[in-house]
Amino acid sequence: MIANIRTASVIGTHGAPVVVECHIATGLPGFSILGRPDDVCREARDRVRAAVMSSGFSWPSRRITINLAPSTSRKVGSGLDVAIALAILVADEQLAASAVRGLHDHAFIAELSLDGGLRPVAGVSPMAVCLRDQVVVVSPDNYEECRLVEPRHTRVAHDLRSLVSHLAGELPWPDPPDPRGDASDVSVPDLVDVRGQGAARLGLELAAAGGHHLLLVGPPGSGKTMLAQRLPGLLPRLDAEASLEATMIRSAAGEPLPRSGLLTVPPIRMPHHSMSLVAMVGGGSSALRPGEVSLAHGGVLFLDELGEFAPSALDALRQPLEEGVVRLSRAHSTAVLPARFTLVGATNPCPCGGGPPGSCECDEAALAKYRRRFSGPLLDRFDVRVVAHRPGADELLGAPNGECTAAVHARVLAMREVAMQRQGVLNGRLSGADLDRFAPVAPDGTQLLRAELEIGRLTGRGLHRLRRVARTLADRDGEHDVIPAHHVAAALALRARIASHRRG
Ligand SMILES: [Zn+2]
Repeated sequence: MIANIRTASVIGTHGAPVVVECHIATGLPGFSILGRPDDVCREARDRVRAAVMSSGFSWPSRRITINLAPSTSRKVGSGLDVAIALAILVADEQLAASAVRGLHDHAFIAELSLDGGLRPVAGVSPMAVCLRDQVVVVSPDNYEECRLVEPRHTRVAHDLRSLVSHLAGELPWPDPPDPRGDASDVSVPDLVDVRGQGAARLGLELAAAGGHHLLLVGPPGSGKTMLAQRLPGLLPRLDAEASLEATMIRSAAGEPLPRSGLLTVPPIRMPHHSMSLVAMVGGGSSALRPGEVSLAHGGVLFLDELGEFAPSALDALRQPLEEGVVRLSRAHSTAVLPARFTLVGATNPCPCGGGPPGSCECDEAALAKYRRRFSGPLLDRFDVRVVAHRPGADELLGAPNGECTAAVHARVLAMREVAMQRQGVLNGRLSGADLDRFAPVAPDGTQLLRAELEIGRLTGRGLHRLRRVARTLADRDGEHDVIPAHHVAAALALRARIASHRRG
């Protein structure tokens, strides 16, 4: 008998349906698995064999051929284990007719432990999405995640033996596990904890409202990381679609999900500068795993010590920053993964760290070298560049005096709404052509810009960025039409320089 059992695999952040076919023939005992399995999938042979025997079934001592259809796409991971085990049991005629009948509208996504237990796997939500017309059976630990995309058609089983009994109708399906918490159990750090930092606070608000990329320049101890961590709280909560998308990216990457299963707070990713290029953009394995740029989708990518990142890693940000996606390819697999995020960089103002004004000890050569590392194209990515200061004694000892996250968040939502109503995109994504229409500048503001261009402090590309920021600043003050000159001046001031002057 030939068996066909449904399951799925995942490439990038998308699930792909897979049918496991099994053929058992007389001949020398053997086991082959066709249909482009990766190494983990190929190892199913040993896991499945142990699980089948531990569950009280027998292992056929004949020639077993497994085909994973369609044969064009790569199959990755251990989520096909249960389907492979069932296909062998069907082909070997070890299952009762009632169990075989029970199989026809079910699909199975779980790894098998050697004792026959069902184990959770990464990427369940994208896989379940592609099996929507099936009842999907998963490990109890994957139930919450699977239920997000297949609320009516998710079942759990604890082990292979009881799974066969459930399919045959001999045992009722077990109750799903209790929900493990709701979406509100995620705490977001509040801006009220930040003392002082007027410019950096404004930078965060502009980044959240306009989708502008932000560079924080400040000495060690000035709280750049603390500031960046407060940006997700200022962004809108993820809507239903974005939330599912972010959850599926995280699932496909094999990262832990929140207790509720669903990601609702915009993510923040903080990769270290030593991280590999593959970890940054994704790919690598045959599963084309999402990288940091995709894990930051809908949220914030924070690069601390920006100057320490390899130029190749920074170059690789160009596509996601320009297109909001990252394209991966490897051998016969390609994937387009979502990767739209707000970029926040942080750096010391100079090689010695800067410190309090007047304490810089760098010589001119060191400053020049440092400046070269932050060449034009890198700095050009950041619309807003603000200085963060080490808080003074008065600020640390005094009562909290800045706005809390909720107050700024409300303003951010209103500003985003204005921009979307006016032009359909956030200010940070206005094209050069749209700027004249949606971000006209008052004549005296144009004079300011002309002066900056003439002395070479502003490039053509910089001019576009500056006008986008000025648009957001004007919106913040309720000036939704022509941008007044003082907002142009304010935008010019939000371009902190790096290693540009010697202090002390
Ligand atoms: Zn210095």
